[in-house]
Amino acid sequence: MQTGRKIPFHLICLAGAIVAFCSEFSPRMAAAEERQEAELRLQRERMVKEQIADAPDYRDPVKDPRVLTALRTVPRHLFVEKKHQSAAYGDFPLPIGYGQTISQPYIVALMTEMLQVQPDHKVLEVGAGSGYQAAVLSLLVKEVYSVEIVEALALQAEERLRRLKYANVTVKVGDGYFGWEEAAPFDRIIVTCAASLVPPPLLVQLKPGGKMCIPVGAAYSVQYLTMVEKSETGTITMKKSIPVRFVPLTRSGGEK
Ligand code: SAH
Repeated sequence: MQTGRKIPFHLICLAGAIVAFCSEFSPRMAAAEERQEAELRLQRERMVKEQIADAPDYRDPVKDPRVLTALRTVPRHLFVEKKHQSAAYGDFPLPIGYGQTISQPYIVALMTEMLQVQPDHKVLEVGAGSGYQAAVLSLLVKEVYSVEIVEALALQAEERLRRLKYANVTVKVGDGYFGWEEAAPFDRIIVTCAASLVPPPLLVQLKPGGKMCIPVGAAYSVQYLTMVEKSETGTITMKKSIPVRFVPLTRSGGEK
C-alpha cells in the first residue's frame, strides 16, 4: 500500500520550469550585469581622462594619481537618484533633492587634490550631501567624519555608505558650522557648501599643520575656493583659488 501524498503533476511541471528558467537565464543575467559594470567603468575612465586629468585648457588638470584612482573607483551613479543615473558621469553637478546638489566630478577631484591628504589622516567634511565626496576621501585617508544639516540627506548618505561598505566614514546630522567637537582635531577639513566667512569653530578644530578647503563668498553668487592653512604655531593663512558656485552653508537657527 502506498502511503504519503502524491505531488500534483502541475506542481512538478512548475518546479521543472523554474529550474529550467534559472539555469537558462541566470548566466545570461550575470553576463548582462558584467557588461553593464564594464560600461560604467569605461564611463568613469572617460570622466577622469576628459574632465579631470586631461582637462580642457580653461581648467588646471588634476594629476595626483591617488585622487584619479579614487574617482575611477567610486561608483558615482549609485550616489544619485535612478532618474539621474545615466547623467552621473557628466561634467556637471546634479540634484540630490532638498534643493542640494552633488558636486561636479572635477570639483570633487580638485578639492581632494588641494587637501593633500595622507593615509593616516582624519578628515572632517561639512556637507555630506549624497556621501560621494566622503566616499572618495575614504579611499585615501584613515577616517572621514561628515556632518549634514538636512536630516533626510544625512540618513540616506549614511545608509548608502554602509551598504557600499565605506566603513571608515561616519555621518551625523548637525550644523557643520560648529564642526564635530568630539572627533576633533582634524588633519584636514573640507567644506562642500559656501560660507561668507570661514567658521571660527572649524579653525579651532584644525590641527596645527592642518589644511582646510572651503568655498568662501556670498550665497547664490560666485565664491572662491580657498585654502586655509594652520602653521605648527597656530598662525592662519588663506589663499584664494578658482571661482566656484556652491549651495550655501545654512544655519540650524535659520541664520545665514
Ligand atoms: N559633498 C556633497 C555635496 C554637498 S552639497 C556630495 O558629495 O554629495 C552641500 C551640502 O551641504 C548639502 O547637502 C547641504 O544640505 C549641506 N549643508 C548646508 N549647510 C550646512 C551646514 N551648516 N552644516 C552641514 N551641512 C550643511
